[in-house]
Amino acid sequence: MQPEELRQIDNEHLWHPFTQMRGHRAENVPLIESGDGFYLIDVEGRRYLDGVSSLWCNVHGHRVPELDQAVRDQLDRIAHSTLLGLGSVPSIELAGELVKRAPEGLTKVFYSDSGSTAVEIALKMAFQYHNQKPNPDAQSRDLFACMQHAYHGDTIGSVSVGGISIFHEIFGKLLFHSVQMPCPAAYHRPEGMSEADYHAHCYAELERLLAENHTRLAAFVIEPLVQGAAGMQMHPPGYLKRVRELTTRYGIPLIADEVAVGLGRTGTMFACEQEGVTPDFLCLAKGITGGYLPLAVTMTTDEIAAAFEGEHTDYNAFYHGHTYTGNALACAAALATLELFDSQNTLENVKANEQILAERLAELKDHPHVGEVRHKGTMVGIELVANRETREAFPADRRMGHQVTLAAREQGVIIRPLGDVVILMPAPGMPAAQIHELCDVVFAAIDKAISLQVA
Ligand SMILES: *Cc1c(COP(=O)(O)O)cnc(C)c1O
Repeated sequence: MQPEELRQIDNEHLWHPFTQMRGHRAENVPLIESGDGFYLIDVEGRRYLDGVSSLWCNVHGHRVPELDQAVRDQLDRIAHSTLLGLGSVPSIELAGELVKRAPEGLTKVFYSDSGSTAVEIALKMAFQYHNQKPNPDAQSRDLFACMQHAYHGDTIGSVSVGGISIFHEIFGKLLFHSVQMPCPAAYHRPEGMSEADYHAHCYAELERLLAENHTRLAAFVIEPLVQGAAGMQMHPPGYLKRVRELTTRYGIPLIADEVAVGLGRTGTMFACEQEGVTPDFLCLAKGITGGYLPLAVTMTTDEIAAAFEGEHTDYNAFYHGHTYTGNALACAAALATLELFDSQNTLENVKANEQILAERLAELKDHPHVGEVRHKGTMVGIELVANRETREAFPADRRMGHQVTLAAREQGVIIRPLGDVVILMPAPGMPAAQIHELCDVVFAAIDKAISLQVA
């Protein structure tokens, strides 16, 4: 099909996610046809550096020979068979490999196909667990603890434990109840409060809200270390550990949503490792197949799983599953992705890139329209503001983050902002030269977008 015809069908028939389609039709977005390492190539043959790893999922690049081969080899055997009443080889091998690599104690692996379902499953398992555990509570646990500004996906359950206010405004009546802990990232703290005071306030509120609600809390769900979709909001060191201490004290299962931060993004395979925390549930998706195929994992402990053991007539199994649960092609891609972490020292590469990013991002330190630069591993948020001193935002209709995206695209780099936070999310396997290219183009794009707005 010719580019013009593709564009016409895209505009007339395809409804893109999280997209105001009126704006989309006017914009002539690149139509991607192929990939090459860390670059995307569109139908007109233009190359773009993939600066947000195809929305945070690509790990080792595109068209990686080892990953391509692993998927092809699996295709020569079988693409998919069900896990209902049958086992399948790659799903078993992957489960073994995940248990070996995850924080100790996470021994059970439940598959699904997106980050949203991975979290949804953890919520449902936690809820059912309390009804079936050895000494059930007098009162039913129908409340979940979560973080302000959290993002856990788009299904109704995962939106219920999210803290993005626009979703709650639109879908509020459909959602179940949650208790939100204040987000301890300090940039948006109340006027006149010091960073230290704000942190102290967040710790005190965490303690108070758990003490007040613990008898009703079915689980506590958190994105460990970095709240990605909130604009790369970073928790202070020790916060996760404190959450683990308190949830252990009150017998509240902890759900670590590592859909974004897992698979090396923060410098360790799993973010929880950095605070020596073992959650009761670990949710993985995005990077688990290297960004090749949709696959998600909800891991949990023997203790949780034991509450679902019984006779057929006990009707206490976990009543949840998807048609493509444990898809063989996706599991094969995931196994090969994990092997590449070993053979290519990907975690070392993340650490080297973290260093490069720290040096390059320092160039923005005195920029009059950069309010804060946040980074951890290879996750970066650059918050643009109208006024650095007052932290005043640009008017929303200026769409500054989007303007930076357009300016970067003209120079051959694909990024996607979160409001006025410019996000860089290079793949964990990206070489140093491309990290520099990403910084060069995006920093220039920030200046270009701002100068356009002022003119
Ligand atoms: C992206 C994301 C999800 C949702 O994953 P999908 O595969 O898009 O459903 C959940 N949690 C976090 C932390 C995410 O970043």
